[in-house]
Amino acid sequence: NFINKYRSMLVLGFIIISFPLIYAFVYYTGGIKYVFSHTMYVPILLTGAFFGFKYGLLAGLVGGIILGPLMPLVVETKEPQEFINWFYWMMIFIVIGGLSGYFVDKYKKIIIDNKKLFSQHPDTGIHNINYLLQLHDDYFKGNILIATILVNNKSSISEVLGTELYLKALRLIFDELKDSLPNPSVVIQVDSAKFWIMFKHLNIDIDGKKIVDSLSKQIAIDEINIYVDYSIGVSESKEFKQCKSLVPFRETDRLAGYAKANNLPYVIFDNDLLIKKYEFNLLGLFSNALKNNETLLMYQPVVEASTKAIIGLEALIRWDSPKHGLIMPNDFIPLVESTQLIHPMTEWVFRKAIRQQNRLIEEGIVFYISINLSIKNIKNPTFYQRMMEILNEEHGDAKLLIFEVTESVFLEEEKHTKLTLHQIKDAGFKIAIDDFGKGYSSLTYLSQFKTDYLKIDRSFISHIADKPSIRQIVQATIQLAHQFGLKVVAEGVETLEMFEHSKQLGIDYIQGFYIAKPMKEETVIDWYKNYIKK
Ligand code: C2E
Ligand code: MG
Ligand code: MG
Repeated sequence: NFINKYRSMLVLGFIIISFPLIYAFVYYTGGIKYVFSHTMYVPILLTGAFFGFKYGLLAGLVGGIILGPLMPLVVETKEPQEFINWFYWMMIFIVIGGLSGYFVDKYKKIIIDNKKLFSQHPDTGIHNINYLLQLHDDYFKGNILIATILVNNKSSISEVLGTELYLKALRLIFDELKDSLPNPSVVIQVDSAKFWIMFKHLNIDIDGKKIVDSLSKQIAIDEINIYVDYSIGVSESKEFKQCKSLVPFRETDRLAGYAKANNLPYVIFDNDLLIKKYEFNLLGLFSNALKNNETLLMYQPVVEASTKAIIGLEALIRWDSPKHGLIMPNDFIPLVESTQLIHPMTEWVFRKAIRQQNRLIEEGIVFYISINLSIKNIKNPTFYQRMMEILNEEHGDAKLLIFEVTESVFLEEEKHTKLTLHQIKDAGFKIAIDDFGKGYSSLTYLSQFKTDYLKIDRSFISHIADKPSIRQIVQATIQLAHQFGLKVVAEGVETLEMFEHSKQLGIDYIQGFYIAKPMKEETVIDWYKNYIKK
């Protein structure tokens, strides 16, 4: 740090004027014969020290010429120097300049290497905390975003794949972050399962998402897909200087810890945090709900439109919270879906549904049972395997089970999602496209992937009696679905009118309050017996 631009310029100026000055000094003190010529060592040594080996040599040469052929041995008598005399001087000057430059260059390199070593993780080569100390205050100007990223499943990854591959995975995560974050950005590996990042930003929500998105890319080493579970805390700082104090990072560490404890993928610090607290609490409670039997399944029948014969039941989850009472799925599933808790929840639903189906089969009642999946389930690399394990453990029959997914699943580009869909199809499960009409509503993917049922969303069916335009859309959808070999289900049929219209348009099955509301598992058999009597 001592040799900076400013000091170098100053020294350069000094060196340039010192050559003629020394010449004059030696000349007026009587010539090279006297001791004053040794002054020349000063600019030569300085040049080597400040500008390195090559310039050290050059300064030695210049000094040698000035005090060599240009300088008499004794000025008074005008006696010139012998060749060997000035040549020897010049050689010594060159050697001195070169040596000082050489050693300073070496020393600088050692310092730089040490600095690097000091500021990098030896295992991964990623910058460590010390790197922050090396950044100048003006590295970032204006608002900067700060985030902590925790790798939650470090131990399970290293147990399965070994530490070496885990370190490789860290390096891949780092590369991914570096590629997708704005330039310049700083990514620091704090310890073996924690990163700090910062970059200049405009909008905390958009940029926070950017981090989440770059981390949601699948990473693979030697063709092994690695599932990394993260918790992220995001905050902002007005000034970069503050970062050296590490205080802002303590804040994001706390937020990431909070995210981890509540099974949230990320927490962004903002003033709404207090409002979100209710949701955090709810999630905290839900993590025990499955274990404590607070969740239950309700079943709603699906009947054939032409005969009203029951063909299946849809399993719908409810949460009976001791603190908040009965909570409907729309009020907690979006929250659960934002966390890893969605996986045990779906497993729980699947297991319960198979048990219910077996109970019905024992009574001689054979129905399809459908369960709802979240897109996150399908994206989970172990989903298929887990479903098959549960199916075997519970002696379920895949042919009698339907997975309901929303169409967003088919729009996923990820190879893995497609593979999972094929695997569940090949295992004999049926697939229903749920809530059709609510989202993107394109049927182009039907040609690429074979599904069994299309469930038209309630928002369409509710207007089927009073809006001819909606009726037309529904009719066209039914025709197209039939062309692709799908059966069509009308959701949310509440009235006789809606039922009749659906039937007229060619709907295959209907589901809705017109037939029955969702009911508890204990009442299904009685309801069924009553229904067939009627
Ligand atoms: P969904 O899969 O479309 O389920 C149908 C929803 O419509 C159910 O709401 C059902 O009670 C309601 N419904 C049925 N017939 C009628 C009707 O005639 N009129 C009206 N107004 N509503 C009717 P629910 O049980 O509140 O579930 C809401 C959503 O929550 C479900 O929509 C599904 O997307 C999700 N869900 C429910 N259980 C699960 C689950 O176990 N896992 C996942 N991932 N999602 C679930
Ligand atoms: Mg459904
Ligand atoms: Mg639906």
